[in-house]
Amino acid sequence: MRPNRPLFPNRLLSILVLAGALCAGDALAWSAEGHRIVGHIAEAGLTPAARAEIDRLLAGEADPTLAGIAAWADELRETDPEAAKTSARWHYVNFQGRCEFQPALDCPGNDCVVGAINRHYLMLAQRGRPDDERREALKFLVHFVGDAHQPLHAGPRDDAGGNRYQVSLRGKGSNLHRIWDGTILERRGLESGAHAARLLAQAPLPADPTLRSQTPALDWALESCRLVEDGRVYPSAGRHVIDDAFLDARLPLAEQRLRQAGARLAAMLNHALAPPTTP
Ligand SMILES: [Zn+2]
Repeated sequence: MRPNRPLFPNRLLSILVLAGALCAGDALAWSAEGHRIVGHIAEAGLTPAARAEIDRLLAGEADPTLAGIAAWADELRETDPEAAKTSARWHYVNFQGRCEFQPALDCPGNDCVVGAINRHYLMLAQRGRPDDERREALKFLVHFVGDAHQPLHAGPRDDAGGNRYQVSLRGKGSNLHRIWDGTILERRGLESGAHAARLLAQAPLPADPTLRSQTPALDWALESCRLVEDGRVYPSAGRHVIDDAFLDARLPLAEQRLRQAGARLAAMLNHALAPPTTP
């Protein structure tokens, strides 16, 4: 796919809508596999210029691909607890009861997934910055674009992104956040590379107005929120016992969110890493 050109126009700097996060508890967003799928899809949409710069920045990584670094921000919990603590609020945004953005309440200090995407995008785009900083920005950006598309990472309810919505599936306890992180996606029975290939083979997504928006990251979070408001994420009638039919009914939506995240991430990276234009 190709980005429509004015993704993140320069004016963005002045109008960054800085979102924050109140209290999403231990939400992690897509499982590692979900994040990897987003990375695989994005790889397929990169321009040669973005590809080359990403290869250069990731050259020292164990798996120097977008899929390979997509879950890094969640792995910090194990590898660097201090950094995990600092970045904990960057994985989500909590809207207050309805899908409307109130920066001071929803994103205090700009510490939420919307602010984190904007900030790391700008850091990555600045070629004068040290490679270490830009590498880290790339790794955060790949992860957070995925997170913003997980509906329970930008929901309007006060239940820590579904972490506090307990469910019973096949006689076992879980919570709705976990179900959306991975359990639904596991129904496809494919590892991330094959799963991404399957999604890439589908008919192209419709034209994406958010790529022309001044505030795409906020648009993506609000989309997630509206999916919750529209009743497409939680079990109906406040039920807590769910079954495979519940998972299967939501799989297409979960996959659509991964496809959108991957395509939009590619557009964002292509824009951030476009060759400098000659005056
Ligand atoms: Zn996350």
